[in-house]
Amino acid sequence: MSGVPERLFVGGVWRDASDGRTIDVHDPATGDVVARVPNAADDDLDDVLAAAAAGFATWRRTAPAERAAVLRRAALLLAERAEEVAAVLTQEQGKPLAEARAEVRQAGEYFDWFAGEAVRSYGRVLATEPGRRSWVERRPVGPVAAFTAWNFPASLPARKLAPAVAYGCSIVLCPAVEAPRTAMALVAALQDAGVPDGVVNLVTGDPPRVSTHLIASPTISKITLTGSVPVGQELVRLSATHLQPLTLELGGHAPVLVLDDLDDEAVERAAATVVRAKFRNAGQVCVSPSRIFVQDGVHDRFVAAVLDRVAELRVGPGADPDTDVGPLANERRRAAVAELVDKAAADGAAVRCGGRVPDGPGWFYPPTVLTDVPPGAALLAEEPFGPILPVLRFTDLDEGLARAGHVPYGLAAYVFTCDLARADTVVAGLDVGMIGVNETALASAASPFGGVHLSGYGREGGTESLEAYTVATAVTTKGT
Ligand code: NAD
Repeated sequence: MSGVPERLFVGGVWRDASDGRTIDVHDPATGDVVARVPNAADDDLDDVLAAAAAGFATWRRTAPAERAAVLRRAALLLAERAEEVAAVLTQEQGKPLAEARAEVRQAGEYFDWFAGEAVRSYGRVLATEPGRRSWVERRPVGPVAAFTAWNFPASLPARKLAPAVAYGCSIVLCPAVEAPRTAMALVAALQDAGVPDGVVNLVTGDPPRVSTHLIASPTISKITLTGSVPVGQELVRLSATHLQPLTLELGGHAPVLVLDDLDDEAVERAAATVVRAKFRNAGQVCVSPSRIFVQDGVHDRFVAAVLDRVAELRVGPGADPDTDVGPLANERRRAAVAELVDKAAADGAAVRCGGRVPDGPGWFYPPTVLTDVPPGAALLAEEPFGPILPVLRFTDLDEGLARAGHVPYGLAAYVFTCDLARADTVVAGLDVGMIGVNETALASAASPFGGVHLSGYGREGGTESLEAYTVATAVTTKGT
């Protein structure tokens, strides 16, 4: 994109990899190579560590109001550049342009919201005996290594950049190499907003090599990842040497409970909401509804309404304004999705629509609805991360809750009901980080995002970010 060098950003300088190596970036709608970004070499990674150490030394001593001003200016710049950044996002990740625009807007909201928080990193004063004073202050944790997945190339980096900058850390952002230029645009906005050299850095390269190299350095004082469970487990292992604290958001397998107190109109609304949430970003969303448990009394009506709504969805390139569902972001994702559906069908599930890899270029996979899915089907245990909507039948609420909780993940869950008491029962009965009642939009700058069990630990977003990006230092003084 004009004005954004597609390069590494190290100590305030955009540059190529020292050995000139690059990685191809593809357009998922065509499979074509649309850019080449640097494949950082070991000496680039050493340079970025030195830059982040120097950046932290400056930034930790910078007044919170100045940090806030940088974030506010960056938010404004991002808003000015939104159309251009959204076009890049769609080109490298595939989602429809309207979704890309909304995501870039949300990234700006993170910058803006954390600008407000920068001046509110309060500590506390403890009650103590006369002659002594004791207080707890929040200090920036230090240089952060941040790893982000390809499914939200703007909002995931923003959710990490914004609190790091607000609370006085420096950061090395390692965006997914599948969709790195959106993150480069965010970093360029921070640079143009006046963030000092070394505070914000960005490297692209082979992910295991980058994470191994960075985390092996005692300079890195904090690790944050939005990605998959195996990668999260690997970063935990790498952190064992220097014991850096981690924030891990590792996906989920969100259940939806649709209860039988809904009247016909409410069933239609629930189906429309679930379909919208399910096929947003072609289902490549960690909080995507992925196991839909529908109570007997409304099951058939719900399935019919879902099939009507899905029939209206238009699949195509994200850049086409008529597109509702774009391609999957990479070829391995499409292969994984196709395998899950094929296996479920072979095990006896009914494929009610979709379910076949289309001919032609690009990594498209149609919105797919399954019913009669056998309990042992792999797609009920593995995170599907694609446009698959399995509808499952249940009879009583306890049974529905037990089946909804029967996965090792605990990120998000949803319930559709008009009965407040039953909503309370479901909310209390689900062991997850986020719950929506008659609602599927969960993420916002003000709200803590994260899960339990294999979905990871720690929270980003909301005032909980203060825990993630600062350390509590207790000071006690006594007059002599
Ligand atoms: P993957 O585990 O190969 O890669 C996920 C991301 O992690 C990639 O973008 C990559 O850049 C990064 N990564 C990979 N190895 C790394 C390493 N050793 N160190 C640091 N970063 C590393 O998975 P995938 O094939 O891209 O997606 C498969 C699964 O990942 C999905 O089914 C889903 O469960 C999960 N996922 C979750 C989220 C989320 O929002 N939590 C996002 C994307 C993918």
